Amino acid sequence: MADADRTPAAAATAPVRGRWREIARQSNLLGADGTLASTIFAEMSALAARTGAVNLGQGFPDTDGPRSILDGAVAQILGANNQYPPGRGVPALRRAVAEHQRRFYGLEVDPDTEVLVTAGATEAIAACVMALVEPGDEVVTLEPYYDSYAASVALAGAVRRTVPLRFPDYRLDVDALAAAVTPRTRLVLLNSPHNPTGHVLGRAELEAVARVAVEHDLLVVTDEVYEHLTFDGIEHVPLATLPGMAGRVVTISSAGKTFSVTGWKVGWVVASKEVVDAVTTVKQFLTYVNAGPFQPAVADALALGDDFYTGVATRLQAGRDALVEGLLDVGFTVSVPQGTYFVVADAAPLGYADGLTLCRELPERAGVVGVPVQVFHDDVEAGRSLVRFAFCKRPEVIADAVARLKALHRG
Ligand code: PMP
Ligand code: GLN
Repeated sequence: MADADRTPAAAATAPVRGRWREIARQSNLLGADGTLASTIFAEMSALAARTGAVNLGQGFPDTDGPRSILDGAVAQILGANNQYPPGRGVPALRRAVAEHQRRFYGLEVDPDTEVLVTAGATEAIAACVMALVEPGDEVVTLEPYYDSYAASVALAGAVRRTVPLRFPDYRLDVDALAAAVTPRTRLVLLNSPHNPTGHVLGRAELEAVARVAVEHDLLVVTDEVYEHLTFDGIEHVPLATLPGMAGRVVTISSAGKTFSVTGWKVGWVVASKEVVDAVTTVKQFLTYVNAGPFQPAVADALALGDDFYTGVATRLQAGRDALVEGLLDVGFTVSVPQGTYFVVADAAPLGYADGLTLCRELPERAGVVGVPVQVFHDDVEAGRSLVRFAFCKRPEVIADAVARLKALHRG
C-alpha cells in the first residue's frame, strides 16, 4: 500500500533526508511526499483539540494521581531539589523499585547495580535496544506493536521481525514466535499487558517465550508499564519470575500509568548489573539524567498500600466495562481487554472497512477520537478495520463518548 495511506498527516514540510529517511520509513512515519509525519498519538490528540471531540485516542488519564503524590513532587520542588540527580537515579527511587519487585513478585534486586531510572519507559526502550543490539541484528516483537518499538529498532540500525497477535483473542502463537527467530536474532522485545490489544500474556505463553529465549540464547526486554492495570482477577506475571530467566530478562516499567502521571516521565530498567551498565552508557548520552524532583515523589508513591494499587485497577475495570458495553451496543465487535488502558473494536460490522479513514472522520461523524490499529501493524490488513479506544477517563466522559458514537449506527 502507498505510504500516504498508512501514515498520519504530515507534520513537517521539509523532506526527510539521509539516513533519517530510512528510519522514518521503518517507523511508519514517512509520508508519500517524503516529509515526516507526526506520531498517530500526536495527530489524533491534535485532531481532538481542533474539533472539540471526546479524546479516547492517546492513552492518558483525565484525572491526576492521588493528592499525596502530587504534594510530594511540590514539596521536592519547593524544598530545593531542583538540580541534576545522580546518573542512575536517586537512591530512594532505586531502593523503592527494588522493594516493589520484592513486594509484588518476590524478586531480589540490588538497587545499587541492577536498577536504572530513565526518562519514562520510552527512553528505557530506546536505550535498551541501542545498548543491546548491533546494526543488522534482528529484534523480535509482537505485532501490533507500540510505535516507539519500531522507531527504536530503526534508530539502532537493527531489523524488526514480528509475531502476529490476532483479533479478537490476541493470544500468542508460539509456533510463529519460534519461526520469527533466525541466527541474526539478538533480542525479543515483549510487552505485557499489551498495548494496543489489552492482552495479558499468561504463564503458558510466557513459558514458551522463555523456552525460545533459552534455546537461542536471547535477551528479552519486557515492557510492563501496565503491570498493575489488569482486570477480572487476571494476574500479571513478570517474565523475570520464570525459573532461570532473571539473568536474561530486562524489565521496563514506569510511573506514568500506575500513578496517573504520564507527564512526569519517570521510568526504570531492572536487569543484571552487566545489562544495566550497558544501558546506562547509552542513557547518559541521551538525557544524562531526568526528573530530579519527581524521582523521590515516585519513590514514595511506589510504597503506597495495597488499597491504592487495587483501587486503580478496580476503577479502570469499571471504565473498561462501560466502554465495552457501549461499543457493543453501538454495533462494534469488541476484543475484551484483560489489562491496560485500551479496548480494540472492529468497525467493519458498522460498514467501515478502514479504521484510519474512520478515525480521521470520527470527530465529524460522531465527535469522538480513537486510534487506528493498522498503524501498529506490518500486516496492515490484519488491523484494517480496527480502532483502539482509551477508557482511562472519567465515567461521565465515557458515557458521553458512547452516546456520541451512537451516531455511527447505520440504518
Ligand atoms: N510502553 C507502552 C506499551 C506504552 O503504552 C507507553 C506509553 N503509554 C510507553 C511504553 C511509554 O511510557 P512512558 O510514558 O513512561 O515513556
Ligand atoms: N502510550 C500512549 C498510548 O499508547 C501514548 C504515548 C505517546 O503519545 N507517545 O496511547
